[in-house]
Amino acid sequence: MKKTIMALSFYFLISIVFPYQVIAQATADPVLAAEIYKIKVIDNHAHPLVAVNENEKDTGWDELCLGSTGESESEKALIPYRLSPASPELINIWRALWGYAHNTINKEQAIELIEAKKHVMREQGDNYPAWVLDKIGVDTMLANRRTMGRGLTAPRFQWVSYADMLMFPLDNERAQKENPDHNGYYTSIERVLKQSLKDVHVARLPLTLDKYLTKVVTPVLEKHKCDGAIAVKFLTAYLRPLDFTNPPVEKVRKVYARYVNGGKPPADEYKALQDYLFRYIAREAGRIGLVVHIHTGFGIGRYFNVDGANPLLLEQVFNDPTLRDTTFVIIHGGWPFAKQTAAMLLKPNVYADFSAIAFLIYPRELSEVIRSWLEIQPQKVMFGTDAFEVGYMLLNWEEFAWLRTDSSRQALALALTGMMNDGEITRQQAVGIARKVLRENAIKLYKLNGS
Ligand SMILES: [Zn+2]
Repeated sequence: MKKTIMALSFYFLISIVFPYQVIAQATADPVLAAEIYKIKVIDNHAHPLVAVNENEKDTGWDELCLGSTGESESEKALIPYRLSPASPELINIWRALWGYAHNTINKEQAIELIEAKKHVMREQGDNYPAWVLDKIGVDTMLANRRTMGRGLTAPRFQWVSYADMLMFPLDNERAQKENPDHNGYYTSIERVLKQSLKDVHVARLPLTLDKYLTKVVTPVLEKHKCDGAIAVKFLTAYLRPLDFTNPPVEKVRKVYARYVNGGKPPADEYKALQDYLFRYIAREAGRIGLVVHIHTGFGIGRYFNVDGANPLLLEQVFNDPTLRDTTFVIIHGGWPFAKQTAAMLLKPNVYADFSAIAFLIYPRELSEVIRSWLEIQPQKVMFGTDAFEVGYMLLNWEEFAWLRTDSSRQALALALTGMMNDGEITRQQAVGIARKVLRENAIKLYKLNGS
């Protein structure tokens, strides 16, 4: 019932009646585009939900409770146009996923649509998430979640866990007060750290940094690996800028020991400890075979600091010789710093995906971003959707995954057509690059079997 009410409120937000329309991409090479649409893709970054019964809720998907803050209008971030109820693309999505037969939507039709979706959920049960992948043409989806659950099983879903909670073991009140978004984020971080301690059977934070590293940080990462994770993700840009320094361990040992039992660490000292922990976690991830994902570029939230999420801030991390065995993926391609991302692709251990960009910008603009990367390192570029929950029955991870997969195929076709037309590659090479981007680069990086 609650979902029906939410869906109806969503419907009432739709202020215009729009016709069904196909977005023409007349400039893409039709033979190439047809080949691209046949490729079963590997989604490098998404947040799918577990299979749930009616009235059940998935509570294990996020580390930070993004979007939990900002009750007043001035505190809320604006929604990108493509995700707004006014976007005429929604009809296309519902048509493809749920067999929606109308060219417009009204209250009765919204109820009908919800029923059609619920019917599939009931019918498919635990197979529902995999059914969604089949419908969209996704072979494997990397599921970035705190925990996995019903229906999110390998090989169709591969776990990408979170690591930020290990970076913030001291009192976070100072940062929480910095901006209204942070309050909820740090509360989540502290809760997840407590859970992580339990997971590795440690009753409380050890008194020394060395013990924290060996009894908590490394065992937590090893447990993630043991439980099936293929990568760990940092959402750090939501909490602080990505300007990680390389402080000496003697300095940060003192900070940890002085404040682990309480007291507010000075901001610069706590930052140094976080910087040290970030590099330690990245090094350990590399050692045990976990790829490191880092959120870069734009983010959700009224107070998100885009400037602090520029992938160029990570250059010293990428250049750190002690991290040469760690492979990093610049998640969301750093957009709007896409050119900076292109420059980072020349480093052997750095990849990028274009997840999420496809819901902010349209295929034509996205094709320019993708082309600028492909011209430098086509074997380091990966497709991703960043499909996530927004809480509306009619617009959720399934719909976003469809939209972003379709847009990405269009954008890739446009980018490669441009490269063909300019004599940079042949059509045969273009098909090969498309397969790499949509599938093979990820299979190779994560050593997936690639069914
Ligand atoms: Zn994401």
